[in-house]
Amino acid sequence: MDKMNDIKNIRNFAIVAHIDHGKSTLADRFLEITGSVQKGKHEEQFLDQNPISRERGITIKLAPVRMRYQGYMLNLIDTPGHIDFSYEVSRTLSSCEGVVLLVDATQGVQAQTVAHFHSSKKQNLKIISVINKIDMDIARVDETIEQMTEMFGFSQDEILKISARTGENVQTLLDTIIEKIPPPQSSQSSIFRALIFDAVYDDHRGVVAFVRVFDGTIKRGDKINFLQEKTSSTVSDVGYFSPFLVSSPSLSSGEIGYIVTGVKDIRHARVGDTISNTSSSTPLPGYKTPQPMVFFGVYPKEQNDLPKLKDGLNKLSLNDASLTIDSEYSSYLGSGFRVGFLGLLHAEIVKERLKNEEQIDPLFTKPQVLYHKENDKTLEPYMKIEIYSPKNYVGPLMNLCEKRKGTLINITYHKDNAQLVYEMPYSSLLANLTSDIKSVSSGFASLDYEIVDYREADLVNLEIVINDVPIDVLSEVVYRNEVQFKGREKVDKLKEFLPRQQFRQVIQAKIGGDIIARSEISPFRKDVLAKMSGGDRTRKDKLLKKQKKGKVRMQQTGRIDIPQKALFSLIEG
Ligand code: GDP
Ligand code: MG
Repeated sequence: MDKMNDIKNIRNFAIVAHIDHGKSTLADRFLEITGSVQKGKHEEQFLDQNPISRERGITIKLAPVRMRYQGYMLNLIDTPGHIDFSYEVSRTLSSCEGVVLLVDATQGVQAQTVAHFHSSKKQNLKIISVINKIDMDIARVDETIEQMTEMFGFSQDEILKISARTGENVQTLLDTIIEKIPPPQSSQSSIFRALIFDAVYDDHRGVVAFVRVFDGTIKRGDKINFLQEKTSSTVSDVGYFSPFLVSSPSLSSGEIGYIVTGVKDIRHARVGDTISNTSSSTPLPGYKTPQPMVFFGVYPKEQNDLPKLKDGLNKLSLNDASLTIDSEYSSYLGSGFRVGFLGLLHAEIVKERLKNEEQIDPLFTKPQVLYHKENDKTLEPYMKIEIYSPKNYVGPLMNLCEKRKGTLINITYHKDNAQLVYEMPYSSLLANLTSDIKSVSSGFASLDYEIVDYREADLVNLEIVINDVPIDVLSEVVYRNEVQFKGREKVDKLKEFLPRQQFRQVIQAKIGGDIIARSEISPFRKDVLAKMSGGDRTRKDKLLKKQKKGKVRMQQTGRIDIPQKALFSLIEG
């Protein structure tokens, strides 16, 4: 075994930070200093290989990389920066011995800084505290140091001050990583066990699992078992990340690398599962099946495009085990799908990928929370939400949270900042909670959440009916105490959007059989005839006849003709 693969010379670490604090930029500098890429010869934010992630400047996919530096093997995992992907972050952390906790000196500590600090602590990781962007004029270095010492208990002189952009002090940071982060513990077990922290599907090779090896050694041709999925297969290749996949003879305890699993379906190689060479070994701790939190109806704008949409969704799900897809039918939109997502950002990413990669632009209905049924009760997900904000916004933030059915759990002050902890229905996130928090705090507050449990909810199905015909795509599950307001809102909106017809349109919002809001659009018969000068009888008759025909057709089909444009804008709200 060469010196670098000696377990004492391995360092596995992640960079954790609030979004935009500079993770990917710092990773670029690491790659350059270690000679893994040539300076100036790579695209910026090299590890963000996903095109959408590049476009939006956020990291969606984990991109691990192995660097060689002064006889050490450094395995860096860049983590996704958004709360929809917090499970992936937690699996990343389980694969490491330490983290670089990065704080932007122009922003200071933010909600996800706090969240990452706590999850790193919980996993017993060595935390290296770093302040970034010290090259900027508006950097508030001293203030940020004060926050970090007070909130996290770091000592002043252990906090490194760097610029990921200019590279200042990044070399010192690398040396600190080697010095302070412990090597993986050596394992005596000959049984192979590895944790999957990510997986991708490759057209030619099938599912490639990104793993951290805890025990034993694996090589091409070995038989493997997925302990949670209870399936097995044969390894066709193993190796490491450069960040591209590079084959190696084997992967051993302590290393981070990939296994070409021989599995074709990504749902059989889930993040968090344990790969082992025997089916009877104990799975590594902490596994949970990722749960979709929200559903959207996803429909082609033209029914001809249904097969294309189906293909597109299936293709994306090859690479995304957390996407769930079921068929659904609407009498207004025709055939489509009910698609489950981890959260709103996840849905947005999928929508963009359908557009960019598959050239499909489907209609997404309003999101709905995934409720649980228990006997005849409906349970809704509740989250613990942590808001971190300058303290002069505490009043408006508390008002907002109360309006959103929040229960205050805790509030703490750290000099000029406050941390608010609430319990709140997850549904608030679908009702623009994030943007409302930003707007009442002039953009300064940030939030983080985790699902804590499911609680009984008093919900009703709000139906929208036009001339006694229910409009399925506009009905919605809502809280009983909001149904009056929501019903009125929908009816008014419809009245505004729907064009006049040759017949009277009665719009009703209903729960069960009860009408809770009603509005009417009068026919344009009067208008049409009024516009006519004089008494051209035949012309008048013709118009009236045409009008009658319209009514008959409507009755025959039992369907209200809502112009497609109006319907789409109503649905997309
Ligand atoms: P991430 O979301 O944590 O991966 O953050 P990025 O690496 O994408 O950085 C967010 C933005 O901050 C980008 O526009 C970077 O160019 C910029 N940035 C990152 N580090 C520094 C730094 O040290 N100094 C300055 N001036 N800008 C930086
Ligand atoms: Mg990034």
